[in-house]
Amino acid sequence: MKKKILIVTTGGTIAMKQNSPFGVVPDDEFTRALLTFPHLNDLAAIHVHEFANLPSPYITPQKMLELAKFVDANIAAYDGLVITHGTDTLEETAYFLDLVLQTEKPVVFTAAMRSASDLGLDGPRNIVGAVRVASNRDSHGKGVLVVMNDEIHYARDVVKTDSGKTDAFLTPAYGLLGIIDPDRVIYYRQSYFREKLHTTTIETNIDLIKCVSGMDDRHLVASLQAGARAVVLEAFGRGNIPPQIIPAVRNLMENNILVIVVSRTYTGRVLPEYGYEGGGAYLEKIGVILGGDLKGPKMRLKLMILFGKFPDPERVREYLRQHN
Ligand code: ASP
Repeated sequence: MKKKILIVTTGGTIAMKQNSPFGVVPDDEFTRALLTFPHLNDLAAIHVHEFANLPSPYITPQKMLELAKFVDANIAAYDGLVITHGTDTLEETAYFLDLVLQTEKPVVFTAAMRSASDLGLDGPRNIVGAVRVASNRDSHGKGVLVVMNDEIHYARDVVKTDSGKTDAFLTPAYGLLGIIDPDRVIYYRQSYFREKLHTTTIETNIDLIKCVSGMDDRHLVASLQAGARAVVLEAFGRGNIPPQIIPAVRNLMENNILVIVVSRTYTGRVLPEYGYEGGGAYLEKIGVILGGDLKGPKMRLKLMILFGKFPDPERVREYLRQHN
């Protein structure tokens, strides 16, 4: 019996066309055109639902939460679900759903780097790959997956690493989970580092600030003025920040705002290694939280979810202490 797969469309280049003189823009035809994609209907019984038709820079954390609620409310009738999304923020939405979804059925994100007007389309192939992965019983219980370029990645760890190439999505730290070959879907590994943080509400007033050499404290001051609940600092290396922003960091914490340090390097964890002023060990001693290997945009989303679940910052601190 064919598996039943729901394709949920949200927009992105996969649903766009060149419309001179405006450039590449969203197109209304995609949801209908999907059902005519070669091979798709041989693979599974396909149903399509248009959730949105947005460029992914328009997707907000609130939209991600709505999407998660939609998935949990509708997946019971299907064997698996494929979500098409713009590539720009795909890794954020996929990670958000990985944290909050209750289902263990396959939920697979896919996208395209090329619009329907380009030569050598990647969209149809990626959708077919995603449907094959969503229909595969080995995809159960692996968390939210991302299929691009015949590869399977885990949402938590995947990164868009290139602005234009069709092999833009990689898992730089740990490698892909599996591949989609013409004869079968093969998993080589799975992630043992999965968190489930189901929530019905989120707190969006969380900031992300990247550390750069010679920076001053203007962004930290703005976070304080905006009433942020937490500030994620994308620090250098093992989690080190420039000394001139330390007074502003202390000021945030004195105002009950959590400060979490992650690394701006592509891979690797932050660690209390350096004891000089601004080093990770020093920061931990003054009350800054070290955020493990998670990258800045994903830590920001995780904090939105944590503050949605636990409005008390001390519970958020405790959770992070146990789970980083
Ligand atoms: N700007 C597009 C988007 O994220 C890029 C893409 O989908 O590849 O919506």
